[in-house]
Amino acid sequence: MLSTFCAPSRYVQGRNATQQLGTEMKKIGLAGPVFIIAGSHAAELLSQDWKRSFDEVGFKFEVLKFGGECSLNEIHRCKEAASKFGAKTIVGAGGGKVLDTARAVAAEINAGIVNCPTLASSDAPCSALSVVYTDEGQFAEYKFYPRNPELVLVDSSIVAKGPARLLVAGMGDALATWFEAKTVVEAKKRNQVGGATTLAGEALAALCYETLLEDGVAALHAVRSQVVTPALERLIEANTLLSGLGFESGGLAVAHSVHNGLTTVHETHNYYHGEKVAFGLLVQLVLEGKTSSVINEVIDFSMSVGLPICLRDLGIYNPSKALCMQIAERATAPGETAHNEPFSVTADMVADAIQVADSIGREYKIEEEEGAKELCMALS
Ligand SMILES: [Zn+2]
Repeated sequence: MLSTFCAPSRYVQGRNATQQLGTEMKKIGLAGPVFIIAGSHAAELLSQDWKRSFDEVGFKFEVLKFGGECSLNEIHRCKEAASKFGAKTIVGAGGGKVLDTARAVAAEINAGIVNCPTLASSDAPCSALSVVYTDEGQFAEYKFYPRNPELVLVDSSIVAKGPARLLVAGMGDALATWFEAKTVVEAKKRNQVGGATTLAGEALAALCYETLLEDGVAALHAVRSQVVTPALERLIEANTLLSGLGFESGGLAVAHSVHNGLTTVHETHNYYHGEKVAFGLLVQLVLEGKTSSVINEVIDFSMSVGLPICLRDLGIYNPSKALCMQIAERATAPGETAHNEPFSVTADMVADAIQVADSIGREYKIEEEEGAKELCMALS
């Protein structure tokens, strides 16, 4: 097994970065005509910057509004329009589904691909895969590509204006990165691109966790005020670049499998990917027999930014043993990353860990409430 590390060719981030999109593309040899697939929010906020930036470098461009779902039909529609326009480079601008569609279109017509995420809500923008859904929004398949994006450009001014809950969800996804990568390293299993891990992948995953602990709360305050601060810049980098490289080249384990298990429960459908991953991480830590100081550090962080720490936080109010088993069975299906642990993992073990993680989380909340009450009484 060869050690493998993969990454986008270039990553650019900062205040008003969109104004330099054309120049950044030119620097790495990407050319027009440029076909932009954009979410409606991105199109509204960025149209003028695109015009100015592409006029500056003499790239012809056209914008197509995204239809709302990364489905085979939508990919086909965008591909037809991009081919007709003679696109040499595809730019995806918006949330995860827009970027996934843009990546699929670029791969099909063999064009260059630029990802411009407008949120720091997941670790997907730097990766070389798309999650494809049916037109009705049911998961259909993963599409894997031979190359990561040529350019990922993150405009921090736009991310700062996004919903705070989505930034927090991105922190949930990033929170698990280090623990999952460490497990894969220790177990000597394969990372998400089928290779052995590298020191680089491991180090970036560790830095991702440190950055969350240092800057998570301060970054959340910045987004609540819709402003860009150094802490927000570092946190965007952790959610997007460090978590992206950390998961792809470091690997995934139980946390993401439990996420997949949670998606089988209807009550969790209104919760974001990273919110479910955050609880999945607690399950992983319990399953791995981590000490309470490790578990408490993660729970303290989750509480400080508002990430779920028990099943109730994900809409599941009465978790029966059968329900925990349903989640665990999906989480341990063949091919799941739960099998990247250094020991063999069964559904029984995961179901037990789910119940214990849930109990720890609920207990923690009760203690917090009691502490707050005591403080109120002492002050009154
Ligand atoms: Zn994830």
